[in-house]
Amino acid sequence: MTHPIPRLVVSACLAGDFVRYDGGTVKDPFVEKLLSYCEVIKVCPEVSIGLGVPRSKVLIYWEGSEPKLFQPSSGRDLTEHMLRFSEEFLGNLEEVDGFLLKGKSPSCGVSNNTISYKDPQGKVFSHRTKGMFAKRVLERFQDLPVEDEKRLRDEKVRRHFLLRLFALADLRESLKEINSVSQLMEFHRRNKYILMLHSQTKLKEMGRLVATSNDLRQTLSEYSRLFRLTLKRSPSKGQFINTFTHIYGHLSSKLNQGEKSHFFSLLEDFKRDLVDYRTILELLRSWSYRFEEKYLQTQTIFEPYPKELN
Ligand code: SF4
Repeated sequence: MTHPIPRLVVSACLAGDFVRYDGGTVKDPFVEKLLSYCEVIKVCPEVSIGLGVPRSKVLIYWEGSEPKLFQPSSGRDLTEHMLRFSEEFLGNLEEVDGFLLKGKSPSCGVSNNTISYKDPQGKVFSHRTKGMFAKRVLERFQDLPVEDEKRLRDEKVRRHFLLRLFALADLRESLKEINSVSQLMEFHRRNKYILMLHSQTKLKEMGRLVATSNDLRQTLSEYSRLFRLTLKRSPSKGQFINTFTHIYGHLSSKLNQGEKSHFFSLLEDFKRDLVDYRTILELLRSWSYRFEEKYLQTQTIFEPYPKELN
């Protein structure tokens, strides 16, 4: 299966640049591998606002209800610089498929982290907060996958991030080629089970949208919006089982009793975390080859991203 090349915005220190406050970079084997499958757009917000390498640390503190970006050693308030840079950079970005930012950074941190600061009088301030640049990313790109390298160590988070990243890249690249409703229908068809995995209701809604289209441009724009929205929530175990059962429904009339029993016992094992979802998908995929089910063979769910990233 060939995969599209996602356009991914990455914190420059995660992409091998020596731009951290101490002149270092970040080594993360998984990130390195992932980036080799992507078109990487690097950004270091702190260097971009004119802070050098190495530099004194910056941090976020609250002034009333407003977060401020502050460099204690120089006493500089960098808030306006960072907000202006974020607006300019994000506003001028060409279409991208996701963001991978450095965790626990006052600029790039995607998750809420506790940041403590002692003022010159010795008073300690402590807040849970996201990085200032990352916060703008999350506000502006609500339907794109945005993660940090630490969260990607969680298997479930990583799987969902990768699935969305490559599916959105597929959407972006396919949209350039789609000139008719039948081509859009074809895209919808091969993504059927990925959409079902995330929401059966949305899958039907999108199917109706394509089937009743009388203005291709409008339909493409609405379809893209729904596609991004649908993939946003991580699927539950129940949604996996529902999707597996639907694929099985395509094949069941050709299976013998032993194969049917084996499938249902694997589902039970999956419910109890005794087997991985990939085991069941591979079983279904191999049946699709055995019974020459071309419709199933082209389904993106069987390999939503390069298997080297598993
Ligand atoms: S975390 Fe962000 S601001 Fe800090 S060095 Fe990395 S890219 Fe630059």
